[in-house]
Amino acid sequence: MAKTIAIPGDRVEVHLSKVIYGGILLESPEDEKGIVLLKLDSGYNIGLNKKDIIEIKRIKKGEIKKERIEIKKDDKKPDIALILTGGTIVNRLDPKTGAVSPLTSPEDLFKSYPKIFDKVNVIKVEMPFMKASEDMDYKDWQNIAKICERLLNDKDVKGVVITHGTDILHYTSAVLSFFLRNLTKPVVLTYSQRSSDRASSDANLNLICSALAAVSDIAEVMLVGHANSNDEFCYAIPGTKTRKLHTSRRDAFKPVNAKPFAKIFPNKIEILSEHNVRKSGKVKADTKFEEKVALIKFYPGQDPDILDYYLKKGYKGIVVEALGLGHVAVNSRLSWIKKLKEVQKKMIVCFAAQTIYGRLDPYVYSNLREIMKTGVIYLEDMLAETAFVKLGWVLGHTTDKEKVKEMMLTNYARELNDRLEQ
Ligand code: ASP
Repeated sequence: MAKTIAIPGDRVEVHLSKVIYGGILLESPEDEKGIVLLKLDSGYNIGLNKKDIIEIKRIKKGEIKKERIEIKKDDKKPDIALILTGGTIVNRLDPKTGAVSPLTSPEDLFKSYPKIFDKVNVIKVEMPFMKASEDMDYKDWQNIAKICERLLNDKDVKGVVITHGTDILHYTSAVLSFFLRNLTKPVVLTYSQRSSDRASSDANLNLICSALAAVSDIAEVMLVGHANSNDEFCYAIPGTKTRKLHTSRRDAFKPVNAKPFAKIFPNKIEILSEHNVRKSGKVKADTKFEEKVALIKFYPGQDPDILDYYLKKGYKGIVVEALGLGHVAVNSRLSWIKKLKEVQKKMIVCFAAQTIYGRLDPYVYSNLREIMKTGVIYLEDMLAETAFVKLGWVLGHTTDKEKVKEMMLTNYARELNDRLEQ
Protein backbone atom coordinates (compact mmCIF):
# COMPACT_ATOMS: atom_id res chain seq x y z
CA MET A 1 0.00 0.00 0.00
CA ALA A 2 1.29 3.45 -0.86
CA LYS A 3 1.93 6.02 1.87
CA THR A 4 -1.10 7.99 3.03
CA ILE A 5 -1.62 11.02 5.20
CA ALA A 6 -5.39 10.59 5.55
CA ILE A 7 -6.71 10.07 9.06
CA PRO A 8 -10.04 8.70 10.34
CA GLY A 9 -12.80 11.17 9.66
CA ASP A 10 -11.28 12.42 6.39
CA ARG A 11 -13.13 12.13 3.09
CA VAL A 12 -10.93 9.95 0.89
CA GLU A 13 -10.67 8.05 -2.34
CA VAL A 14 -9.26 4.55 -1.99
CA HIS A 15 -7.65 3.38 -5.22
CA LEU A 16 -7.47 -0.33 -5.91
CA SER A 17 -6.13 -1.66 -9.20
CA LYS A 18 -9.50 -1.75 -10.91
CA VAL A 19 -11.84 0.29 -8.75
CA ILE A 20 -11.91 3.48 -6.70
CA TYR A 21 -14.03 3.76 -3.54
CA GLY A 22 -15.04 7.15 -2.15
CA GLY A 23 -16.15 7.74 1.43
CA ILE A 24 -15.14 8.63 4.97
CA LEU A 25 -12.10 6.88 6.37
CA LEU A 26 -12.85 5.03 9.61
CA GLU A 27 -10.43 3.80 12.26
CA SER A 28 -9.04 0.32 11.51
CA PRO A 29 -10.53 -2.37 13.72
CA GLU A 30 -8.17 -3.16 16.65
CA ASP A 31 -8.01 -6.87 15.81
CA GLU A 32 -7.68 -6.48 12.03
CA LYS A 33 -4.82 -4.11 11.45
CA GLY A 34 -4.53 -5.25 7.81
CA ILE A 35 -7.95 -3.81 6.99
CA VAL A 36 -8.87 -0.26 5.98
CA LEU A 37 -12.45 0.62 6.87
CA LEU A 38 -14.43 3.06 4.80
CA LYS A 39 -17.92 4.47 5.22
CA LEU A 40 -19.43 4.69 1.76
CA ASP A 41 -21.86 7.47 0.87
CA SER A 42 -24.61 4.84 0.85
CA GLY A 43 -24.08 4.57 4.62
CA TYR A 44 -22.56 1.08 4.44
CA ASN A 45 -19.08 0.31 5.77
CA ILE A 46 -16.63 -1.60 3.63
CA GLY A 47 -13.42 -3.30 4.74
CA LEU A 48 -10.56 -3.21 2.22
CA ASN A 49 -7.42 -5.28 2.42
CA LYS A 50 -4.38 -2.98 2.81
CA LYS A 51 -2.41 -5.20 0.44
CA ASP A 52 -4.83 -4.44 -2.41
CA ILE A 53 -4.72 -0.67 -1.95
CA ILE A 54 -2.58 1.35 -4.32
CA GLU A 55 -3.30 4.75 -2.82
CA ILE A 56 -5.55 6.56 -0.33
CA LYS A 57 -6.11 10.12 -1.53
CA ARG A 58 -7.42 12.67 0.93
CA ILE A 59 -10.19 14.69 -0.71
CA LYS A 60 -11.23 16.72 2.33
CA LYS A 61 -9.93 17.01 5.87
CA GLY A 62 -12.54 15.67 8.24
CA GLU A 63 -11.19 16.76 11.60
CA ILE A 64 -13.47 18.97 13.63
CA LYS A 65 -11.70 22.28 14.01
CA LYS A 66 -11.87 24.74 16.85
CA GLU A 67 -14.53 26.99 15.56
CA ARG A 68 -15.97 30.34 16.46
CA ILE A 69 -19.12 31.44 14.73
CA GLU A 70 -21.03 34.66 14.86
CA ILE A 71 -24.80 34.32 14.87
CA LYS A 72 -27.27 37.15 14.11
CA LYS A 73 -28.02 39.17 17.20
CA ASP A 74 -31.38 40.45 18.47
CA ASP A 75 -30.68 43.45 20.69
CA LYS A 76 -33.75 42.83 22.83
CA LYS A 77 -32.44 39.45 24.02
CA PRO A 78 -29.67 38.74 26.54
CA ASP A 79 -26.39 37.23 25.33
CA ILE A 80 -24.94 33.89 26.32
CA ALA A 81 -21.94 31.80 25.29
CA LEU A 82 -22.02 28.11 24.47
CA ILE A 83 -19.31 25.49 24.91
CA LEU A 84 -19.88 22.27 22.96
CA THR A 85 -17.94 19.22 24.13
CA GLY A 86 -19.59 16.18 22.56
CA GLY A 87 -21.99 13.43 23.61
CA THR A 88 -25.42 12.56 22.28
CA ILE A 89 -26.53 16.18 22.20
CA VAL A 90 -23.97 16.94 19.47
CA ASN A 91 -23.59 13.50 17.97
CA ARG A 92 -21.31 13.14 15.02
CA LEU A 93 -19.72 10.45 12.91
CA ASP A 94 -17.78 8.12 15.18
CA PRO A 95 -14.59 7.04 13.37
CA LYS A 96 -14.40 3.90 15.55
CA THR A 97 -17.80 2.43 14.83
CA GLY A 98 -18.82 4.30 11.70
CA ALA A 99 -22.10 5.33 13.30
CA VAL A 100 -23.41 8.47 11.65
CA SER A 101 -25.22 11.31 13.31
CA PRO A 102 -26.24 14.69 11.99
CA LEU A 103 -24.43 17.27 14.11
CA THR A 104 -20.87 18.08 13.14
CA SER A 105 -20.74 21.83 13.63
CA PRO A 106 -22.39 24.54 15.72
CA GLU A 107 -24.48 25.45 12.67
CA ASP A 108 -25.82 21.91 12.61
CA LEU A 109 -26.61 22.15 16.29
CA PHE A 110 -28.54 25.36 15.81
CA LYS A 111 -30.39 23.89 12.86
CA SER A 112 -31.50 20.99 15.04
CA TYR A 113 -32.31 23.01 18.13
CA PRO A 114 -33.42 26.46 16.94
CA LYS A 115 -35.50 27.02 20.06
CA ILE A 116 -32.48 28.06 22.08
CA PHE A 117 -32.66 31.39 20.19
CA ASP A 118 -36.18 32.11 21.44
CA LYS A 119 -34.84 33.57 24.66
CA VAL A 120 -31.21 34.48 24.08
CA ASN A 121 -28.56 35.42 21.58
CA VAL A 122 -25.76 32.90 21.41
CA ILE A 123 -22.93 35.32 20.79
CA LYS A 124 -20.02 32.92 21.22
CA VAL A 125 -19.60 29.23 20.51
CA GLU A 126 -16.51 27.27 21.51
CA MET A 127 -15.77 23.68 20.52
CA PRO A 128 -12.58 22.81 22.41
CA PHE A 129 -12.99 19.12 21.47
CA MET A 130 -15.70 16.68 20.47
CA LYS A 131 -15.66 13.66 22.73
CA ALA A 132 -18.04 11.18 24.25
CA SER A 133 -17.80 12.07 27.91
CA GLU A 134 -16.40 8.67 28.91
CA ASP A 135 -13.23 9.63 27.01
CA MET A 136 -12.67 12.76 29.08
CA ASP A 137 -10.30 13.26 31.98
CA TYR A 138 -9.07 16.05 34.24
CA LYS A 139 -7.18 17.76 31.42
CA ASP A 140 -10.46 18.26 29.57
CA TRP A 141 -12.00 19.63 32.77
CA GLN A 142 -9.13 22.10 33.11
CA ASN A 143 -9.58 23.09 29.48
CA ILE A 144 -13.32 23.71 29.93
CA ALA A 145 -12.74 25.69 33.13
CA LYS A 146 -10.22 27.98 31.43
CA ILE A 147 -12.63 28.63 28.58
CA CYS A 148 -15.39 29.37 31.12
CA GLU A 149 -13.10 31.80 32.90
CA ARG A 150 -12.49 33.70 29.66
CA LEU A 151 -16.15 33.73 28.66
CA LEU A 152 -17.41 34.73 32.12
CA ASN A 153 -14.98 37.64 32.16
CA ASP A 154 -16.37 38.89 28.85
CA LYS A 155 -18.68 41.78 29.74
CA ASP A 156 -21.12 40.94 26.94
CA VAL A 157 -21.74 37.37 28.10
CA LYS A 158 -24.51 36.97 30.71
CA GLY A 159 -23.87 33.30 31.34
CA VAL A 160 -22.33 30.14 29.91
CA VAL A 161 -24.01 26.91 28.78
CA ILE A 162 -21.91 23.77 28.33
CA THR A 163 -23.31 20.84 26.37
CA HIS A 164 -21.87 17.51 27.44
CA GLY A 165 -22.33 13.73 27.23
CA THR A 166 -24.31 12.25 30.08
CA ASP A 167 -22.08 9.46 31.31
CA ILE A 168 -19.63 11.52 33.35
CA LEU A 169 -21.53 14.78 33.34
CA HIS A 170 -21.87 14.73 37.13
CA TYR A 171 -18.09 14.44 37.53
CA THR A 172 -17.64 17.47 35.27
CA SER A 173 -20.33 19.49 37.03
CA ALA A 174 -18.70 18.68 40.38
CA VAL A 175 -15.14 19.45 39.36
CA LEU A 176 -16.15 22.73 37.70
CA SER A 177 -17.84 23.67 40.98
CA PHE A 178 -14.41 23.47 42.64
CA PHE A 179 -12.45 25.01 39.76
CA LEU A 180 -14.86 27.96 39.40
CA ARG A 181 -15.73 29.21 42.85
CA ASN A 182 -16.92 32.75 43.64
CA LEU A 183 -18.83 32.86 40.41
CA THR A 184 -20.21 36.14 39.15
CA LYS A 185 -22.55 34.58 36.57
CA PRO A 186 -24.27 31.24 35.91
CA VAL A 187 -22.41 28.24 34.49
CA VAL A 188 -24.92 25.70 33.22
CA LEU A 189 -24.21 22.14 32.09
CA THR A 190 -26.74 20.32 29.97
CA TYR A 191 -27.12 17.16 27.92
CA SER A 192 -29.48 14.96 26.04
CA GLN A 193 -30.25 11.30 26.52
CA ARG A 194 -31.84 10.97 23.06
CA SER A 195 -30.26 12.41 19.94
CA SER A 196 -31.82 15.20 17.88
CA ASP A 197 -33.04 12.83 15.17
CA ARG A 198 -35.46 11.19 17.61
CA ALA A 199 -38.89 12.63 18.21
CA SER A 200 -38.45 11.96 21.93
CA SER A 201 -35.24 14.00 22.10
CA ASP A 202 -34.87 15.84 25.36
CA ALA A 203 -32.40 18.33 23.94
CA ASN A 204 -34.78 21.15 23.04
CA LEU A 205 -36.32 21.56 26.49
CA ASN A 206 -32.92 21.11 28.17
CA LEU A 207 -31.38 23.79 25.96
CA ILE A 208 -34.21 26.30 26.40
CA CYS A 209 -34.19 25.86 30.17
CA SER A 210 -30.38 26.08 30.19
CA ALA A 211 -30.54 29.34 28.27
CA LEU A 212 -32.96 30.71 30.89
CA ALA A 213 -30.72 29.49 33.71
CA ALA A 214 -27.71 31.13 32.06
CA VAL A 215 -29.38 34.56 32.08
CA SER A 216 -30.84 34.14 35.57
CA ASP A 217 -29.27 35.53 38.74
CA ILE A 218 -28.14 32.09 39.97
CA ALA A 219 -24.36 32.49 39.99
CA GLU A 220 -23.56 28.81 40.48
CA VAL A 221 -22.32 25.80 38.55
CA MET A 222 -25.51 23.85 37.90
CA LEU A 223 -26.79 20.95 35.87
CA VAL A 224 -30.02 21.65 33.99
CA GLY A 225 -32.13 18.83 32.61
CA HIS A 226 -35.56 17.19 32.56
CA ALA A 227 -37.15 17.04 36.04
CA ASN A 228 -39.40 14.12 35.06
CA SER A 229 -40.17 12.12 31.98
CA ASN A 230 -42.65 14.67 30.65
CA ASP A 231 -41.47 17.49 28.46
CA GLU A 232 -42.64 20.18 30.91
CA PHE A 233 -39.85 21.63 32.99
CA CYS A 234 -36.28 21.14 34.13
CA TYR A 235 -34.46 21.31 37.43
CA ALA A 236 -31.33 23.33 37.97
CA ILE A 237 -29.32 21.13 40.33
CA PRO A 238 -26.14 22.08 42.25
CA GLY A 239 -23.15 20.68 40.31
CA THR A 240 -21.78 18.78 43.31
CA LYS A 241 -25.10 17.24 44.33
CA THR A 242 -26.24 15.26 41.32
CA ARG A 243 -25.62 11.95 39.69
CA LYS A 244 -26.71 10.04 36.61
CA LEU A 245 -29.23 7.63 38.09
CA HIS A 246 -30.77 6.07 35.01
CA THR A 247 -29.31 4.66 31.81
CA SER A 248 -31.93 6.02 29.44
CA ARG A 249 -34.62 8.15 31.07
CA ARG A 250 -34.69 11.82 30.18
CA ASP A 251 -34.71 12.74 33.86
CA ALA A 252 -31.57 10.69 34.50
CA PHE A 253 -30.05 13.32 36.78
CA LYS A 254 -31.56 13.88 40.21
CA PRO A 255 -30.59 16.13 43.07
CA VAL A 256 -29.02 13.94 45.75
CA ASN A 257 -28.99 15.06 49.38
CA ALA A 258 -29.92 18.56 48.25
CA LYS A 259 -32.70 20.62 46.75
CA PRO A 260 -32.59 21.94 43.18
CA PHE A 261 -31.79 25.64 42.90
CA ALA A 262 -34.81 26.14 40.67
CA LYS A 263 -37.58 24.68 38.60
CA ILE A 264 -37.29 26.01 35.06
CA PHE A 265 -40.17 26.13 32.57
CA PRO A 266 -39.63 27.31 28.99
CA ASN A 267 -40.95 30.73 30.00
CA LYS A 268 -40.29 31.15 33.72
CA ILE A 269 -38.06 30.21 36.64
CA GLU A 270 -39.30 29.25 40.09
CA ILE A 271 -36.55 29.55 42.68
CA LEU A 272 -36.49 26.62 45.12
CA SER A 273 -33.42 27.09 47.25
CA GLU A 274 -30.73 29.45 48.42
CA HIS A 275 -27.94 30.24 45.95
CA ASN A 276 -25.18 32.74 45.23
CA VAL A 277 -26.41 35.64 43.16
CA ARG A 278 -25.01 37.37 40.12
CA LYS A 279 -22.46 40.05 40.98
CA SER A 280 -19.75 42.09 39.34
CA GLY A 281 -16.08 41.19 39.33
CA LYS A 282 -13.66 38.79 37.71
CA VAL A 283 -13.71 35.01 37.84
CA LYS A 284 -10.46 33.11 38.31
CA ALA A 285 -10.32 29.40 37.50
CA ASP A 286 -8.39 27.40 40.11
CA THR A 287 -7.65 24.23 38.16
CA LYS A 288 -4.80 22.55 40.06
CA PHE A 289 -5.48 18.81 40.05
CA GLU A 290 -3.57 15.71 41.21
CA GLU A 291 -4.20 12.97 38.69
CA LYS A 292 -3.08 10.12 40.95
CA VAL A 293 -6.42 9.73 42.70
CA ALA A 294 -8.77 6.76 42.45
CA LEU A 295 -12.32 5.77 43.24
CA ILE A 296 -13.14 2.18 44.18
CA LYS A 297 -16.19 0.39 45.44
CA PHE A 298 -16.05 -1.99 48.40
CA TYR A 299 -17.75 -5.31 47.75
CA PRO A 300 -18.30 -8.33 50.01
CA GLY A 301 -15.15 -10.39 50.32
CA GLN A 302 -12.91 -7.73 48.75
CA ASP A 303 -9.25 -8.25 49.58
CA PRO A 304 -7.77 -5.10 51.17
CA ASP A 305 -4.60 -5.76 49.17
CA ILE A 306 -6.32 -3.81 46.40
CA LEU A 307 -5.04 -0.73 48.25
CA ASP A 308 -1.42 -1.90 47.72
CA TYR A 309 -1.96 -1.75 43.99
CA TYR A 310 -2.72 1.96 44.14
CA LEU A 311 0.07 2.66 46.61
CA LYS A 312 2.63 0.90 44.40
CA LYS A 313 1.41 2.82 41.37
CA GLY A 314 2.13 6.09 43.20
CA TYR A 315 -1.46 7.11 43.95
CA LYS A 316 -1.74 9.94 46.46
CA GLY A 317 -5.36 9.45 47.43
CA ILE A 318 -8.30 7.13 47.10
CA VAL A 319 -12.01 7.36 47.73
CA VAL A 320 -13.65 4.10 48.80
CA GLU A 321 -17.37 3.72 48.32
CA ALA A 322 -18.14 2.09 51.64
CA LEU A 323 -21.25 0.17 52.65
CA GLY A 324 -24.10 1.54 54.74
CA LEU A 325 -23.01 4.13 57.29
CA GLY A 326 -19.35 3.64 56.24
CA HIS A 327 -18.46 -0.03 56.57
CA VAL A 328 -15.80 -2.23 55.06
CA ALA A 329 -14.86 -5.65 56.52
CA VAL A 330 -13.43 -5.34 60.02
CA ASN A 331 -13.90 -8.63 61.88
CA SER A 332 -13.47 -11.10 59.04
CA ARG A 333 -10.63 -13.08 57.53
CA LEU A 334 -10.25 -10.15 55.09
CA SER A 335 -10.32 -7.33 57.64
CA TRP A 336 -9.27 -3.95 56.21
CA ILE A 337 -8.01 -2.50 59.50
CA LYS A 338 -4.32 -3.48 59.22
CA LYS A 339 -4.05 -2.49 55.57
CA LEU A 340 -5.81 0.82 56.15
CA LYS A 341 -3.29 1.70 58.89
CA GLU A 342 -0.40 0.71 56.63
CA VAL A 343 -1.37 2.54 53.44
CA GLN A 344 -2.36 5.74 55.18
CA LYS A 345 1.30 6.35 56.03
CA LYS A 346 1.68 7.32 52.38
CA MET A 347 -1.76 7.83 50.91
CA ILE A 348 -5.01 9.62 51.80
CA VAL A 349 -8.05 7.35 52.20
CA CYS A 350 -11.57 8.80 52.23
CA PHE A 351 -14.88 6.99 52.55
CA ALA A 352 -18.08 8.01 50.77
CA ALA A 353 -21.50 6.35 50.82
CA GLN A 354 -22.21 3.54 48.37
CA THR A 355 -25.90 3.98 49.15
CA ILE A 356 -25.81 7.32 47.27
CA TYR A 357 -28.53 8.90 49.43
CA GLY A 358 -27.88 9.70 53.10
CA ARG A 359 -24.90 10.47 55.30
CA LEU A 360 -22.05 8.38 56.68
CA ASP A 361 -21.98 8.13 60.46
CA PRO A 362 -18.91 6.48 61.92
CA TYR A 363 -20.14 6.84 65.52
CA VAL A 364 -23.00 4.36 65.39
CA TYR A 365 -21.12 1.05 65.47
CA SER A 366 -17.91 0.14 67.29
CA ASN A 367 -16.37 -1.43 64.16
CA LEU A 368 -16.92 1.86 62.34
CA ARG A 369 -15.07 3.70 65.08
CA GLU A 370 -12.17 1.27 64.58
CA ILE A 371 -12.03 2.17 60.90
CA MET A 372 -12.11 5.85 61.72
CA LYS A 373 -9.25 5.44 64.20
CA THR A 374 -7.01 4.28 61.32
CA GLY A 375 -7.29 7.82 59.93
CA VAL A 376 -9.90 7.35 57.21
CA ILE A 377 -11.68 10.61 56.34
CA TYR A 378 -15.45 10.10 56.46
CA LEU A 379 -17.05 12.38 53.89
CA GLU A 380 -20.50 12.79 55.43
CA ASP A 381 -23.13 13.18 52.67
CA MET A 382 -20.70 13.94 49.83
CA LEU A 383 -21.38 11.94 46.67
CA ALA A 384 -18.57 9.52 45.81
CA GLU A 385 -18.00 11.05 42.36
CA THR A 386 -17.87 14.52 43.87
CA ALA A 387 -15.48 13.21 46.53
CA PHE A 388 -13.22 11.75 43.85
CA VAL A 389 -12.85 15.01 41.90
CA LYS A 390 -12.62 17.03 45.11
CA LEU A 391 -9.76 14.82 46.34
CA GLY A 392 -7.93 15.41 43.03
CA TRP A 393 -8.48 19.13 43.42
CA VAL A 394 -7.47 19.24 47.11
CA LEU A 395 -4.33 17.14 46.50
CA GLY A 396 -3.47 19.53 43.69
CA HIS A 397 -3.17 22.18 46.42
CA THR A 398 -1.62 20.32 49.36
CA THR A 399 -0.31 16.91 50.39
CA ASP A 400 -0.27 17.64 54.11
CA LYS A 401 -2.60 15.05 55.66
CA GLU A 402 -4.18 17.40 58.21
CA LYS A 403 -4.71 20.11 55.62
CA VAL A 404 -6.19 17.58 53.17
CA LYS A 405 -8.61 16.44 55.88
CA GLU A 406 -9.55 19.99 56.72
CA MET A 407 -10.14 20.84 53.05
CA MET A 408 -12.07 17.64 52.33
CA LEU A 409 -14.44 18.51 55.17
CA THR A 410 -14.77 22.19 54.25
CA ASN A 411 -17.83 23.04 52.25
CA TYR A 412 -16.47 24.84 49.16
CA ALA A 413 -19.23 24.26 46.65
CA ARG A 414 -22.29 22.89 48.47
CA GLU A 415 -20.79 19.39 48.38
CA LEU A 416 -21.63 18.97 52.09
CA ASN A 417 -25.15 19.58 53.25
CA ASP A 418 -25.59 20.07 57.00
CA ARG A 419 -29.31 20.42 56.66
CA LEU A 420 -29.77 17.09 55.00
CA GLU A 421 -32.85 15.35 56.30
CA GLN A 422 -32.38 11.60 56.41
N1 ASP B 1 -21.67 7.96 26.20
C1 ASP B 1 -22.22 9.23 25.92
C2 ASP B 1 -21.46 10.32 26.66
O1 ASP B 1 -21.50 10.38 27.85
C3 ASP B 1 -23.66 9.27 26.26
C4 ASP B 1 -24.28 10.63 26.06
O2 ASP B 1 -23.82 11.46 25.32
O3 ASP B 1 -25.26 10.90 26.68
O4 ASP B 1 -20.84 11.11 26.05
